[in-house]
Amino acid sequence: MTATMREPAKLELQTPSRPVAPALKLTPAQEIALLARVLFREGYDDHLAGHITYKQEDGTFLVNPFGLPWDEVCASDIMRMDADGNRLDGPWTITQAIPLHVELHRARHDVTVAVHNHPRWSTVWAGLARVPEIYDQTSAFYTGEVAVLQEYWGAVDDIDNAREVVSTMGSAGVALLANHGILVAAKDIDQAYLRAMCFEWRARQAWHIEALGGGQAVHPDVVHAFGDWFNTNTFPGLFPAMARREIRRDPSVLS
Ligand SMILES: [Zn+2]
Repeated sequence: MTATMREPAKLELQTPSRPVAPALKLTPAQEIALLARVLFREGYDDHLAGHITYKQEDGTFLVNPFGLPWDEVCASDIMRMDADGNRLDGPWTITQAIPLHVELHRARHDVTVAVHNHPRWSTVWAGLARVPEIYDQTSAFYTGEVAVLQEYWGAVDDIDNAREVVSTMGSAGVALLANHGILVAAKDIDQAYLRAMCFEWRARQAWHIEALGGGQAVHPDVVHAFGDWFNTNTFPGLFPAMARREIRRDPSVLS
C-alpha cells in the first residue's frame, strides 16, 4: 500500500510580542569578530584560512585580518578596505585571496556579508563536488540554491579564478568550490551565520548518515515548507545567542 503524504504546513514565524533574548548592541567590527569566533566553533577552523567581508553603508568593507585564526580575532583587529580590496585602515594585513570577495561584492549588490573558508564538513562535500542531501530540520534552514564549481584550479589571488567562482555562483547563497571549500553570501551578519552554520551541519549529518549506509532525505515539500521562510527572514535571537556564548567564553572579543 502506498502512503499518501499530506500537504506540509508552511512555517511562518510570528514576530514575538516580547524580546526573545537580551538585546546586544554591537559595533560592525564587533559583529564580524563575533561571526568569525562563532563559526570557528562550528567547524570553520582551518588554521589561518578564511575571510569574511562585511559591506558598510559608506561603500567600504570590514574584513578579518590574515594571520589570526578565527578564534583569536577581536574587534580591534578588524581591517577596513575599499571596494578594490586596498587596505584603508587596521593594524594587520589583508589576505592575498581577497579578489574572491572583491569580485563577489562587485557582481552581487544583494550581498552584505561574504564568508569563505574550508570548514571541515562542507569541504568533504567540496572534495566530492556534490551537494549533500538534507536529512534533518537544522539542515533545512537554508533551502536555496547551492552552486558547485566543479574545478577550482586558480591561485587564491587570481582574479580570473575569482570571476569564475562568482559566475558559477550566480544568485546562489552557497557555493561549493571543488577540492577547496565554501563561499557563503548573505544580506546581513545574522543570515551569514545561519547559512554558514546550517550548511556545515547539513554536510556533517549527510556524511554520517551516508557512511552508515544511507538514510531517507527529508521530502523536498517538507524542506521547503519548513525552511523557505528563513531564506529571507532572520531566525529570531539565534546569532545574538551564539554571540553571547562567545562573549561569556572570552569577553576580549569585543575589545
Ligand atoms: Zn580558500
